Amino acid sequence: MKLKSCQREQEKEDSNEKSAMKRLFSGIQPTGELHIGNYLGAIRNWVRMISEYDSIFCIVDYHAITVEYDVPTMRERILGAAAECIACGLNPDRCTLFVQSHVPEHTELAWIFNTVTPMGDLGRMTQFKEKSQQHKQNVNVGLYDYPVLQAADVLLYKAEIVPVGEDQIQHIEFCRRVAKAFNARYGETFPEARHVVPRIGRIMGLDGKSKMSKSLGNYISLSELPDTIRKKLSTAVTDVNRKRRTDPGNPDVCNIYTLHRLLSREKDIEYVNVECRRAGIGCIECKMTLAGNMIAELNPIREKAKELKEHPERVKEALEAGRDRCKPIAVETMREVKTRMGLL
Ligand code: SF4
Repeated sequence: MKLKSCQREQEKEDSNEKSAMKRLFSGIQPTGELHIGNYLGAIRNWVRMISEYDSIFCIVDYHAITVEYDVPTMRERILGAAAECIACGLNPDRCTLFVQSHVPEHTELAWIFNTVTPMGDLGRMTQFKEKSQQHKQNVNVGLYDYPVLQAADVLLYKAEIVPVGEDQIQHIEFCRRVAKAFNARYGETFPEARHVVPRIGRIMGLDGKSKMSKSLGNYISLSELPDTIRKKLSTAVTDVNRKRRTDPGNPDVCNIYTLHRLLSREKDIEYVNVECRRAGIGCIECKMTLAGNMIAELNPIREKAKELKEHPERVKEALEAGRDRCKPIAVETMREVKTRMGLL
């Protein structure tokens, strides 16, 4: 009895603390296997932010269906992404993690936002242009309308902080325009969300040319075993001008060095930076040092994710708790929106 009342007190304290914090929202695609680009470019940064903001993270399944996908494995991919997010440190007791389609108010608000969005704005979106080239056989309305749903994701919770990669800045600018357009027509309702971009630049793939991506096959996934990590790194592209072991290299243009800076110990980073420039270290030795540091960081994540994937009921429970925390906020926003719009 005493324990329960202590727990209630703790929950009350947590909720008071959260209401004093700014709200943060970000989403992640259920690609099944997250890779080190997702981890270093987004999730690791989110983990650092959860003590500072009332943080909501969403597995964006409705965004994922705007391109062709494998229906039989979708459920598994959603649970897999959630398990990996938790394993990376998005502790469901310290932040909210849920699935987009579990809160239908996202699509409801997106429909309303469609009515304050000029068609031309969506056609100009870089991501739409790129994706409609990549998926020529299926350029659907959902793909075109993607940024409107993204604006609804953020504004449904009146989030003010949105951590994103550089390629998403245009969408957050669009989100601000939607908030302004709605507020101008129906009265002040939504805040103008601010994007936060981690200062680490783009995580390139192992090909050294394109952004790390599962579809391009140039990635190291979070569930990769140590031997596979070593093997994948051994063939990764380095400074292309360093042709022989005796040639000095330039770490500033080498993706392996970028990964060192994100994953390695200070003394290893310093050593590579100095020795590469005077050909004192070979690329294989450099890559194996990186592999050791990468394996040390990823091992606990892989093991925790494996354990969670073996117990999907624990992941589902965390996602349901996340939905239950989000739902009342979403319902309240929709009530306010409909009242302002003169709807019943
Ligand atoms: Fe890149 Fe390391 Fe080779 Fe230098 S030694 S070019 S940093 S892989």
